[in-house]
Amino acid sequence: METTRRTTEPGYNAGVEEFRDEEYPMLKGSVYLDHAGTTPYPKSLMDRFARDMTCNLFGNPHSASASSQLSTSRIEDIRLRVLHFFNADPDEFDVVFAANATAGIKLVVDALRAGPDGFDYAYHQASHTSLVGVREEARNSLCLDDGQVEAWLAGSCPFGSDYGVARPALFAYPGQSNMDGRRFPLTWAQTIRQQGASGNKKVYTLLDAAALVCSSPLDLSCADTAPDFTVLSFYKIFGFPDLGALIVRRGAEDAFRHPRYFGGGTVDMVVCLKEQWHAPKTQFLHERLEHGTLPVHSIIALDSALDIHEQLFGSMRNVSAHTAFLHQRLYRGLKSLRHGNDKPVCTIYSPDPDQSDTGPVLAFNIRNGQDVWLSLAEIEKLATLKGFHIRTGGVCNPGGIASALGLEPWEMRKNFSSGFRCGTDNDIMAGKPTGIVRASLGAMSTISDVDSFVDFISEFYRDLSSQAPIPRQTLPPPNRPELVVHSIFIYPIKSCGAFQVPPGVSWEVRPEGLAWDREWCLIHQGTGRALSQKQYPRMALLRPQPDFDRGKLRVAYVGQALPHLPREIDIPLSKNPSLFHSFKSATLRSRSSRVCGEEILAQTYSVPEINDFFSGVLGVPCMLARFPPGGQGKSMRHSKAHLQKHQTQTAPPPIAMPGSFPSPPSPPDSDTERSATQRRILLSNESPILGITLPSLDALNAEIRGSSANSKTDISAAVFRANIVIGPAPDARTKMEPYAEDDWSSIRIGKHEFEMLGSCRRCHMVCINQETAEKSEEPFVTLSKTRRFDGKVFFGTHMGYISGKGQQQQQQFPTVKVGETVLPEWS
Ligand SMILES: *Cc1c(COP(=O)(O)O)cnc(C)c1O
Repeated sequence: METTRRTTEPGYNAGVEEFRDEEYPMLKGSVYLDHAGTTPYPKSLMDRFARDMTCNLFGNPHSASASSQLSTSRIEDIRLRVLHFFNADPDEFDVVFAANATAGIKLVVDALRAGPDGFDYAYHQASHTSLVGVREEARNSLCLDDGQVEAWLAGSCPFGSDYGVARPALFAYPGQSNMDGRRFPLTWAQTIRQQGASGNKKVYTLLDAAALVCSSPLDLSCADTAPDFTVLSFYKIFGFPDLGALIVRRGAEDAFRHPRYFGGGTVDMVVCLKEQWHAPKTQFLHERLEHGTLPVHSIIALDSALDIHEQLFGSMRNVSAHTAFLHQRLYRGLKSLRHGNDKPVCTIYSPDPDQSDTGPVLAFNIRNGQDVWLSLAEIEKLATLKGFHIRTGGVCNPGGIASALGLEPWEMRKNFSSGFRCGTDNDIMAGKPTGIVRASLGAMSTISDVDSFVDFISEFYRDLSSQAPIPRQTLPPPNRPELVVHSIFIYPIKSCGAFQVPPGVSWEVRPEGLAWDREWCLIHQGTGRALSQKQYPRMALLRPQPDFDRGKLRVAYVGQALPHLPREIDIPLSKNPSLFHSFKSATLRSRSSRVCGEEILAQTYSVPEINDFFSGVLGVPCMLARFPPGGQGKSMRHSKAHLQKHQTQTAPPPIAMPGSFPSPPSPPDSDTERSATQRRILLSNESPILGITLPSLDALNAEIRGSSANSKTDISAAVFRANIVIGPAPDARTKMEPYAEDDWSSIRIGKHEFEMLGSCRRCHMVCINQETAEKSEEPFVTLSKTRRFDGKVFFGTHMGYISGKGQQQQQQFPTVKVGETVLPEWS
């Protein structure tokens, strides 16, 4: 075939771009660097499989029909092919198909646990979570570092005399760490098994080969040295099918001699009624371990996967040489990046591929020129916008992460109790990263993938100045800028379009924010999670408009007409919707939901017309929910905004309870820090009111124009979804400096005081055009370069109304209006 690639020589890349476009059309415009997660499936694999499926009928095995016989014989052949792929002799090994590597591990655990005495367990520190969890089933368990494994290899069994000798033990370790690519010797399995044999405790060995086999041949040709159990997932090697396997050395089959549960297909005879008896199948281990109907079509797909992999990449040896070459290039590229002051940009946790045997995985973190760690969430946002597929976070490798980052168990518990969870935005805790960035390569990676990633890190994360930034001026300018309220917006339904308050209208300000702002949201019918424009950009095309005369919120859909859906719908403003003529039987039902990761109790509308409308427009089963002011408990939320380090105001000291221990100073970059006064909010992300200023927006647009030639139109204020847009007064003589709002402590709008609560952290949702719902790269890409402090990106300012200031009568009904004077105060 023409598409076969000689992928070993460095210059192979010539012409490979066409191969990529042809075989991986779904990756157009993006760079895939998450092979440790899974590998993309080539088009010819899907074509080959589709052909196999449409030319043949595969039935349920174990009957005499032609379709059933075909499945049976093909599965037998494929089982053998899998063994050959790993150089394993079918007389010495058996393959048990399982859903994935994890399911393969569980088969081993179930068998050992069923023994009369259970089992003891030791696992290497670099193990994947799926191996760590085995400890919960073991009588005793130990997590071993390299030194402890070495000691075991040298003859000192970690299971001393305190551990029952009759009880078997299991030793498990990864062939390659899924976190940093480190590889571990396959000889461990043999030596440790032998150590067990010479002592009197039986020791089984389990090799987690899931990461290793993606980019390396696994050779099981010598049954004496092979691990007893090897687990892997095929999707990681081929991209498809979603299937895994447990490969068992026949010499270790006795581990499965205490079966309990039996399912369809695993028995030769079952007696029920008066006697309870069954005869398990005896010839092959896989017959006893594959309960129920096999994933027939997935197994059949393996045939195509093996064919196409060979056709495209030759052999695993080729893949290994190819990925090793790229890995070295990536390692050297990232390692060479330096800030202007010569400090390294990347802190790399993976071993140097020139010095040790390492898989093509690079784990690292980024620090800015002032040694501040960058937030992983932030790196991921920008990488996603730029089309890179990478993984960040704890990557399912708790022991590896803890040792790479020097996290002690007490720190991890402390982080957990201060709200850290896998996958949250606050990934720098107490000045330390809690996870890593992982870039991993595979058979289809190219030189340009590697180079563009290194260029990306260089472009966005290198500080070229050699000095620390000069602190910005903190004194108020000699003449106050003359400012006014330029426009006012509310967003009645969270993440949907804006309603612009008409000029001349005085809009009520409440402690929770502007009246009617973010009082409703759309929640997923299944998970209860509040929907966001990030996943459903079309929400921008849903435009709510309050109509106080008729007592309703009219929501219009301004996108392309959809069949069977009205263009608009009315929602009663009243908290009791059954007062509304068309919703006589309507009720609001309390339902638990999640907003920005926080559990809340919202009132959902049980009105099919309403929910069908929103579900139809967005193409997701959702319902409307309301979160009115004045709730208690989980029907109430608090502001999370706080001053950021780049702002010059000093944050208010935390309130200490009399007699309590002084709490340790909270880390300066923790986002969980609460401001001393707990302000209530409705469904806005962080604070009652969000403000932006036009001089800052102008400065941003100038930057965008200056840096990217292809930005045709200016970014509009709407993308920031602010409530109050502040601009220069008409004929202003004193101008406002861009980003002066960072240093304001409060502002007076008309007769009312507002406290500035801190800069607003941004995500790539600002890249959604609020008119068209189309996504682009800007303004987030430029903000990442010009408005990043401590690794986070900011634009606009959180604020809240200060009650109790101003005159009595106005206090009772504070309002804001377009054109009112804005007077900033500096602290
Ligand atoms: C991916 C992976 C696993 C888990 O594989 P599943 O397919 O999710 O069961 C286990 N160990 C390692 C080293 C892996 O890379």
